[in-house]
Amino acid sequence: MGATTLDHEVVIVGAGFGGLGAGIEFTRQGMTDLAILEREDDLGGTWHVNHYPGLAVDIASVTYSYSFEPNPHWSRLFAPGAELKKYAEHVADKYDLRRHIEFGVAVQRAEWDDDGQYWTVHTDDGRSRTARYLVTATGFLSQPHTPDFPGMDTFAGKIIHTTDWEDGYDFAGKRAAVIGTGATAVQLIPEIARTAKALTVFQRTPIWVVPKIDFAIPAPVQTLFQKVPLTQKAARLVNTAALEALMVFGVLHFKQAKPGNKLAALLSKAHLRAQVRDAATRRKLTPSYDFGCKRPTFSNTYFRVFNQPNVTLQTSPIERVEADAIVCADGTSVPVDTLVLATGFNLWDTNFPAFQIVGRQGRDLGRWWREGRFQAYEGIAVPKMPNFLSLNSPYSYSGLSYFTTIEGQMKHIARLFGELRRRGADTFEVTEEANTAYLDRSTKALDSSVFYAGDCTGSRSYYFNQHGEATLLRPSSTLSTLREMGSFPLEDYTYRAAPVSEPVTAPAPTA
Ligand code: NAP
Repeated sequence: MGATTLDHEVVIVGAGFGGLGAGIEFTRQGMTDLAILEREDDLGGTWHVNHYPGLAVDIASVTYSYSFEPNPHWSRLFAPGAELKKYAEHVADKYDLRRHIEFGVAVQRAEWDDDGQYWTVHTDDGRSRTARYLVTATGFLSQPHTPDFPGMDTFAGKIIHTTDWEDGYDFAGKRAAVIGTGATAVQLIPEIARTAKALTVFQRTPIWVVPKIDFAIPAPVQTLFQKVPLTQKAARLVNTAALEALMVFGVLHFKQAKPGNKLAALLSKAHLRAQVRDAATRRKLTPSYDFGCKRPTFSNTYFRVFNQPNVTLQTSPIERVEADAIVCADGTSVPVDTLVLATGFNLWDTNFPAFQIVGRQGRDLGRWWREGRFQAYEGIAVPKMPNFLSLNSPYSYSGLSYFTTIEGQMKHIARLFGELRRRGADTFEVTEEANTAYLDRSTKALDSSVFYAGDCTGSRSYYFNQHGEATLLRPSSTLSTLREMGSFPLEDYTYRAAPVSEPVTAPAPTA
């Protein structure tokens, strides 16, 4: 690849585990002129932004980490959120990535210059940066969804979104309301129920919850993991295999393995029966859609809070918010001092992509996805988007540990940039044919999944986009994902050399 006269060789947007993984891979490829732009004031992505009480990982920590950077010090099987944040910091330090990161810089727009073959990236500090390659690592769950109930602006109490938690906020003596019953709420509700004078949980759609087998990892085991890394590798393998079975058979091959899926639903129902005394409450907490349509969760403490005298489950839809209350469609008025929004994220309208990206011949990625179909070759590349890799794409997420997705993408980067070097080329672009073939393959593979072969009516799952298509998950096992990402046909891309031209520098900062 020719020496660049641009501001940077690569701009990576996002300093979460995806952005850090990309940074590590580009460094391995010998590319050191990287700029990692991060809108937050620190690294770690979701593990920096989320710090609500009860936060913990929901994939066992031996698996939820880079395979090449095991952490023998996880305190529990499912480590608390703060340990993930610490792990991200450790990775950034060990792989010397901090010097590339600029914090508090939000990207607003990027456009491709096909004559010069580079990207211009515009940021909210009024600057623009040019780069040969653009990588978005902006996460799936990074644009918080805040519902706009009538009267919301008249609420006189405190409103907290779970992504904007006030550490140490004291619920003692408060009449709290939590809107939402997703994975975040399931972790948070037992914590609030501990101290709040009253807690009303507003549930629109129940979630499947199975028991959580969690325990502290004893110090001698941590020492063993440290001294004999092979033991932690073995633990990772066992855990990944178990997750794999759940995912491949329970979700992707629902059609062929329905009994396994039904068994998981039965386990959740038995868990509910064991934990909640009142039959009417149990009925309300029981989902009507198939297990797996929506990401299920684990908890030993969630269901049982509904036995507490200070906790009420409200299932009548919210009609409006008043200065000190939430009024439901059935006329119930619930007095509220603190309103917690555990209302999740907007993926498909504002996060795919997270900012405007305009490629060759004016292709606007967001518009193209929304007006057509969501698609990305191998969940990473898009036609008419040269030198662009989107780590959070349709069909990219393996649905298990996010690290499978990241490491697959790192393999893809290694193969692609190896080929660029071999050819002495600078620019790559995936072909329309390869992209369409991948889209067709993924669409077909998902036919057997719970999303299409099961009953997902009423699940309101974020796995489905606004067109009703389940385009988030990559329909392949961990092994296939890693194999395919490291061996895709090289002719699925076209390659060209960049023109030799005048230096391209970013415009001077605007006042
Ligand atoms: P979520 O799963 O999207 O849940 C959002 C909740 O808010 C849903 O119950 C939703 O109800 C409700 N809601 C949204 N708008 C509403 C409205 N206008 N009226 C009433 N209810 C409304 O979001 P999340 O709980 O933040 O979890 C997102 C994902 O993050 C999880 O699936 C998981 O992958 C990840 N996560 C992971 C961990 C972990 O690893 N430890 C922890 C937390 C989250 P409907 O279902 O009816 O839309």
